[in-house]
Amino acid sequence: MKTLVWFRNDLRLSDNPALSRAAIDSDAIEAVYIHCHEYVKSHPVAPVRLHFIFEHLQLLGDELAAQGISLTLLEVKTAKEIPAAILKLAQQKSCDQLHINAEYPLDEFVRDKNVAATCKAAGIIVRRFHDRVIVPPGMIRNGQGLPYKVFTAFKRTWLQQATAVSWASPSSAPAFPKAVACKFDNAVLKKWFAEADDRVAAHWPAGEAEAHERLKDFMDTAIRHYHETRDFPATEGTSTLSPYLAVGSISPRQCLGAALHVNGGEWDTGSEGVTTWINELIWRDFYQHVVTDFPQVCKHNPMQTYTDQFPWRKDEKVFERWCQGQTGIPIVDAAMRQLLQTGWMHNRLRMVVAMFLTKNLQIDWRWGEHWFMSRLIDGDFAANNGGWQWSASTGTDAAPYFRVFNPVSQSRKFDPDGHFIRQYVPELAHLDKKNIHQPPPVNGYPLPIVDLVVSRKQTIELFGKLDRKPAETGN
Ligand SMILES: Cc1cc2nc3c(=O)[nH]c(=O)nc-3n(C[C@H](O)[C@H](O)[C@H](O)COP(=O)(O)OP(=O)(O)OC[C@H]3O[C@@H](n4cnc5c(N)ncnc54)[C@H](O)[C@@H]3O)c2cc1C
Repeated sequence: MKTLVWFRNDLRLSDNPALSRAAIDSDAIEAVYIHCHEYVKSHPVAPVRLHFIFEHLQLLGDELAAQGISLTLLEVKTAKEIPAAILKLAQQKSCDQLHINAEYPLDEFVRDKNVAATCKAAGIIVRRFHDRVIVPPGMIRNGQGLPYKVFTAFKRTWLQQATAVSWASPSSAPAFPKAVACKFDNAVLKKWFAEADDRVAAHWPAGEAEAHERLKDFMDTAIRHYHETRDFPATEGTSTLSPYLAVGSISPRQCLGAALHVNGGEWDTGSEGVTTWINELIWRDFYQHVVTDFPQVCKHNPMQTYTDQFPWRKDEKVFERWCQGQTGIPIVDAAMRQLLQTGWMHNRLRMVVAMFLTKNLQIDWRWGEHWFMSRLIDGDFAANNGGWQWSASTGTDAAPYFRVFNPVSQSRKFDPDGHFIRQYVPELAHLDKKNIHQPPPVNGYPLPIVDLVVSRKQTIELFGKLDRKPAETGN
């Protein structure tokens, strides 16, 4: 038996079910990665994320080659070409089966279905595994067998399912069938790299080893205080593992395994820092389940359809000022500049800027969602869509429309000394902690783009007037 493993957002050797299963039931393994130009543009994939993926591929290619597994890099213009490209490679390499780890957003699901149909028609066995989540979609159901729309109820059932399985740390790579090393041909990769933007890449060293190093550092230090420090952007209070989870150089199971180890095997008791962090991993699973159970969200639709009546503004000039961090609201500008300069943004600030865009500027959440995907190194459709729909009050278990963060109050609370603002908005660095959150006119820094109080009131009134459809409630 010879198996072709198709790598996508699972760029690692350890705890990779598609790969480890191939190692168990195959005499030989081939590997492939496909770079689809249409996909990169349309979804979109941020240049910094692309660069990060390519750096991972270089490392993965070498690591696989050391195990005698050759990683082939293919390039296609459109997603339609992928089934034929996979089949051709499988036949060239005389593979009997194809292994993949599932991807849940609709486009990826349809792509994989087409590939599976093409391969099966040619006699190649296709096997799909789950690595992107801790509990696979379809396993969390309410009493009526329906998916949950509310996180707390989802979490309760999730805990029942997840605690039922063994959590021996799934960290080591499998024993591979063939030990004769080969050489990774990276010629194509060099060409791909030329298209990528590496300006912010320095913040994010690539690789499975780096991901595990970060996990270990976080487990050794910050996790115990996570519940107290995670909302303060000037503090290194979170794991910064999201880019690695997004490309799959570490798995959520490995993260959970490490957290349980620190917490003496306890899931929702023990260290409050650890349980709060596990809660975030469950949110991550929740949004992956949402895109599977409610695929309408993958077609730019709000989860709560009545919210599409909201008269979102289509003001490109205002939007551009938000994108570039020029709104005159210091915490918003600092956050948006963090995104531009590092490809990443702190979670508290993602909520603040998303609420500001949708509830104060009244700009369509889909514009913000798209901008984030085009800039984030950790861009993940499910988490990003979930975060945007939560902030815009259009999503499942979203913030109620009348709960609107005031960015200035958020700034005073979570960046009390103004350290974060000073780092990213140097024009305001001379201001003291009292003035920095809502500055007097400063040469070279814009005046506020909007009146926070008036715009908040207007948004709440507009939301209140929308015609709600009763069918959209549920648990
Ligand atoms: C508007 C908006 C857009 C977002 N877009 C993305 C995105 O594209 N990709 C992405 O990975 N996360 C996204 N998030 C969630 C969250 O902001 C990031 O996962 C987090 O900031 C990553 O930092 P960290 O790795 O230090 O997280 P930690 O606090 O250390 O959390 C550990 C892991 O849990 C997961 N996680 C944490 N919070 C959330 C959450 N609210 N929803 C889903 N998963 C979560 C992430 O995988 C994260 O790496 C978004 C949130 C909002 C509000």
